[in-house]
Amino acid sequence: MIARKYGLTVSKLKALNNLSSNVLLTGQVLKVTEGEIDSTITNPETSPIKRSTDNFPDLSRANAIEVDYDVKLNSKTEPFRTSINLASKPINAVNKFGQRFTVTREFYENGQKYLELSQNGMVKGYVPASAAVKVPKNSKVIYLDAGHGGSETGAYSFGTAEKNLNLNITRRLSSDLRKQGYTVYESRTTDKAIPLNQRTIEPNRIMPDLYLSVHHNAMPNPGSARGIETLYHNSSIDEEGYMTMAHHKYTNLQAESKRLADTVQSYLIAETGAVNRGARPQNLHVTRTNDAPAILVELGFQDNYSEYKNLTSPSYQNKLIKGLLKGINAFLN
Ligand SMILES: [Zn+2]
Repeated sequence: MIARKYGLTVSKLKALNNLSSNVLLTGQVLKVTEGEIDSTITNPETSPIKRSTDNFPDLSRANAIEVDYDVKLNSKTEPFRTSINLASKPINAVNKFGQRFTVTREFYENGQKYLELSQNGMVKGYVPASAAVKVPKNSKVIYLDAGHGGSETGAYSFGTAEKNLNLNITRRLSSDLRKQGYTVYESRTTDKAIPLNQRTIEPNRIMPDLYLSVHHNAMPNPGSARGIETLYHNSSIDEEGYMTMAHHKYTNLQAESKRLADTVQSYLIAETGAVNRGARPQNLHVTRTNDAPAILVELGFQDNYSEYKNLTSPSYQNKLIKGLLKGINAFLN
């Protein structure tokens, strides 16, 4: 089915995804092109309905089930219709990419599951279930990325590897965020390597409300700089081969990433009193290829000894975490 839909042979699809069998798991991400854009499709299990057998009969639209859960649209190719008539002319769901809806009904047509999408009690349209990913109804979702890990240490100064400073911050921050009711995902909770090109695959499947990558800084000439900076993507700094993704032009992602960067940076400076190196665009994989408002924070220069002493002290780390918490809360609420 998937191979045919994307104009691929089954063997080509399997080769692209290193699959050895023809059996797919729900939620499994498949690679359908070798390019960066449209490189994955997802098959989220969006139904909360309990089914007695795997052969649950298809439902006619007349027998649609009333449901109540939230989704975000994450398709670049599926149709979005404002009419329940599936023969009506659709627009591409990419026009609604990243938008949150409440699913109010589910129905099947020709064996395919469709969702009725509403906002503020008003029906807005209809999409195939494969165009949407389920998100928590009453909890915002945050994705934390601890930079580097495993054999990739990041900066290394005065006997301390950056990867460990990053993980210490994300682990404590995730705990505080969960206490405040957020749903938090972490790219790693242990000292393990994650290839750069993997760092946005999971978040782009989950569709969080914000993405924060935590790093500590160092200079080629050690000790020559100090302060905090927050980086985000903007198409003004595109480079050949590292361009803003095509579907992002349908979203307000760039403006939201800038707002997130400005907000978090100002709270970090207010809490720590550190040198303010500003919030600015920089062309980085984790921010450029992210479908959520995304920033990368550089919390200080660990190669500068006076700043290193701060960055490794629990009381200063508490200030950093407090600044991040306040910035996240100000952005999301
Ligand atoms: Zn780093």
